[in-house]
Amino acid sequence: AETPRAINFGAGPSCLPDSVLKEAAAGLFNFAGSGIGIAEISHRSKEFTTFLTEVESLIREQLNVPSTHSILFAQGGGTGQFAAVVLNMLARHRLLHPEVADSERTIDYVLTGSWSKAAVKEATRLTANSQVKINIAADGKAHSTDGKSYESIPPHDSYTFSQDPALIYYCENETVDGVQFSNDEGDASSFPFHLLPKDKLLPLVADYSSSFMSRPIPRLADHAIIYAGAQKNIGPAGLTIIIVRQDCIVDVDAAVALGSTPVPSVLSYKYLADGKSVPNTPPVFSLYVAGLVLRRMKTLGGLAYFLETNRKKQEKVYAAVREGEARGVFVPRVKEGSRSWMNIVFNVPGDGAEGKFLAGAEKRGMKGLKGHRSVGGIRVSLYNALEEEQVDRIVQYMREFIEESTT
Ligand code: PLP
Repeated sequence: AETPRAINFGAGPSCLPDSVLKEAAAGLFNFAGSGIGIAEISHRSKEFTTFLTEVESLIREQLNVPSTHSILFAQGGGTGQFAAVVLNMLARHRLLHPEVADSERTIDYVLTGSWSKAAVKEATRLTANSQVKINIAADGKAHSTDGKSYESIPPHDSYTFSQDPALIYYCENETVDGVQFSNDEGDASSFPFHLLPKDKLLPLVADYSSSFMSRPIPRLADHAIIYAGAQKNIGPAGLTIIIVRQDCIVDVDAAVALGSTPVPSVLSYKYLADGKSVPNTPPVFSLYVAGLVLRRMKTLGGLAYFLETNRKKQEKVYAAVREGEARGVFVPRVKEGSRSWMNIVFNVPGDGAEGKFLAGAEKRGMKGLKGHRSVGGIRVSLYNALEEEQVDRIVQYMREFIEESTT
């Protein structure tokens, strides 16, 4: 007999809708009536070019991306963008301010968890031979109970941005730590847009890898760059989506002539933009599946639908976490207000309790619940493709587990 599909709570690559997978399987044999499969067809064919244009407009329409911003597709994932944002934004800063000495150039990072920390690490490598300064504008760790973990968005009064940074970086949703900015501006845990100058084109860069297309993006138009790997909410790994304001698509080679670090072509936004996201062979299959997912999203009602569904899904799981907390069975790792909608992290204290929780889930066909190897615990990821009734299944299991552990 065929093995039934598990309910996949993995943090990424994540589950994809069955209907899309079936359609994609057919497309592997015959793409858009061409008689050629999607993994075989030329990325310059009429069929693929038409499809790519549609993928772009599906993102533009649903996220309300203004005409000031281009949508680019690349490879290299979030990790590739850790480097690309530094190289392109430092080149931009040099072109705007050639007279400024490197020792006066800064890049600002907001630290809220492992992935923003990884971005700082990459920025440190890339600026090793220059005097560009990295300013940690805020650090969530400094506000945690043990001073070591990331359990909340830093309070607004703790931010210190530089005078004229080449970039201001934040990670909207920390996949490992389960910390996310609130999408309601004005909340204590929202991004502090109000602290930034209003009269300038902001060099604001956001990593949306694990929350892209899960709900609308606050102040999207104020961002210089928003990027995301596809492998959480919209498709297979291999595709990176970059929304970039056009003044950030700069001639990186002209900046090199002024002393900037040379930029590999595939990381240059101008190279991607000039080549209409196909300057070299793009991740054709990932783009195809992403396109099918985005079409389905539109049919379901777009981001308004996902905002409501994702809100309900996380409310249900956090309610069960709180019930477990009240009875000493679960310990949430993130403070109220900073809790992620996409990745819910908690501990199951007691000898072997965590293993027991995971084994029970596995027996019920639920997988991918083990926390990231760096932090341990349990992580329930609730990406778009996970249906509400699948979420109900884990909630029911969590309640059974609480009962079992307390009787
Ligand atoms: N940023 C975030 C928020 C992530 O969750 C991840 C991966 O999970 C990355 C960056 C790194 O992305 P990639 O594996 O595509 O390089």
